Amino acid sequence: MAEAEKVIIIGSGPAGLTAGIYTARAMLDPLLLAGSAMGGQLMTTTDVENFPGFPEGILGPELMQRMLQQAERFGTRVLYEDAVRVNLREHPFTVETSAGNVFRCLALIIATGASPRRLGLPSEEKFFGRGVSTCATCDGWFYRDKVVCVIGGGDSAMEESLYLTHHARKVYVIHRRDQLRASKIMQERAFKNPKIEFIWNTVVTEILGDQTVTGVRLRNVKTGEESELPLDGVFLAIGHEPNTKLFEGQLELDERGYIVVDRYQRTSVPGVFAAGDCHDHTFRQAITAAGFGCAAAIMAERWLGELEDKGYEALKADYAFAAK
Ligand code: NAP
Repeated sequence: MAEAEKVIIIGSGPAGLTAGIYTARAMLDPLLLAGSAMGGQLMTTTDVENFPGFPEGILGPELMQRMLQQAERFGTRVLYEDAVRVNLREHPFTVETSAGNVFRCLALIIATGASPRRLGLPSEEKFFGRGVSTCATCDGWFYRDKVVCVIGGGDSAMEESLYLTHHARKVYVIHRRDQLRASKIMQERAFKNPKIEFIWNTVVTEILGDQTVTGVRLRNVKTGEESELPLDGVFLAIGHEPNTKLFEGQLELDERGYIVVDRYQRTSVPGVFAAGDCHDHTFRQAITAAGFGCAAAIMAERWLGELEDKGYEALKADYAFAAK
């Protein structure tokens, strides 16, 4: 069997690539499993205006390309394969990929991020990718001069609706409450835009159409009143689910499926660290994810240094999960 890698990083968003930069510079020769789609959620964003160092803003995909280049520059080996199975019960840990490769590693950094949440309607499944989308940047172009809606009341919903005004002639924002969760600056921009109209206290109960989307059925949650709204496209911006299925039963997850970490990014398995949206449901910013990736990398470096001196069994106790 091939020698175990020192460190494997799963994920190629800001957390994973930052962990790549740091572990590569620590001469740990990291192997980064970038997945079939490199870059994480920023690949489906337009302007990133709050990442320090870019006063004019930078496009999400460009920022990720730069992080990738930086990780590779220091020697991170990047494989465009998904991790499909892990064994964290035995050390070295095992990671199996979609291409059938099996790797072993002495330290693992999990940076698998989160994915857009769905409403759970059968009609949403039927039209997904054909009128229902979770990415305005990817699909907005198809709605030139059309009418669309964005479901949700957070920053993503504001960002998606503002972006869609460049294409669509009308954008409804449908929100289940009468107050937005989005930051004030994003709220103000959306309120000021004449193409955006808010529909409050309302949920979508069905997406209507035969071959294509022709409208949505709505229910006012205060009055119970039902109505139909004709439109051409539906954009979901109702938050995210952590990508942690792979670790169920092997790592401690919270009730929503987020990986439980302590303040040193340690998980319930000594030697396994987690960073970014797979554990953080509070901040969920590119910059915080990058920060967590940096911390996880520094911890992995310490873990590997001490592993050599003390051996796995002795070290396990030192890296016991402080959250417990
Ligand atoms: P979020 O803040 O969790 O907002 C999700 C929204 O969807 C909430 O308004 C929520 O309603 C609604 N929602 C959730 N489940 C729903 C359901 N089943 N049906 C109908 N509505 C539902 O998620 P987000 O907007 O994706 O933002 C995530 C994080 O990224 C936040 O920290 C945000 O600040 C950040 N972010 C920042 C920017 C930026 O700075 N430009 C851009 C995008 C995202 P309730 O309000 O009633 O819970």
